[in-house]
Amino acid sequence: MHRTIHIHICCPHADCGKSLLDNSVKIGNQPSVHLIADKNGVRGDIYLSSLYDDFECIEPEELNILPGDIIRLYCPHCGKELPFADKCACKAKMVWLGIKNGGRVRICCRKDCHYHSLEFDDSGKLIEFISQVENAD
Ligand SMILES: [Zn+2]
Ligand SMILES: [Zn+2]
Repeated sequence: MHRTIHIHICCPHADCGKSLLDNSVKIGNQPSVHLIADKNGVRGDIYLSSLYDDFECIEPEELNILPGDIIRLYCPHCGKELPFADKCACKAKMVWLGIKNGGRVRICCRKDCHYHSLEFDDSGKLIEFISQVENAD
């Protein structure tokens, strides 16, 4: 049976750490992950799915994000850019998002790569996370 994993995303900056979940915008019946997107200096609100491995996302129309475009992502609370995590296979950068109660996930900043999918930094952390989810039931 396919099980969707809902992740409580928060700002990765230690001096902020605020929840990025937005209850007013739902994706897949769950609160979305609210971030600020920036493309060539134009900013708008972007909402990503908080479900692990779900690619659904609501993009700001005013940015007109096209396939292959790379955007910058900022925390809507502290305004800081999300920290660099790694270079993606597509050569765009990947940035970190925090998880409440520990752990972190990274996303690629290029549209149609998988920037709106959440990826754990190693499979061990994912397994650990899943076991926490199961224990919480
Ligand atoms: Zn923040
Ligand atoms: Zn990529």
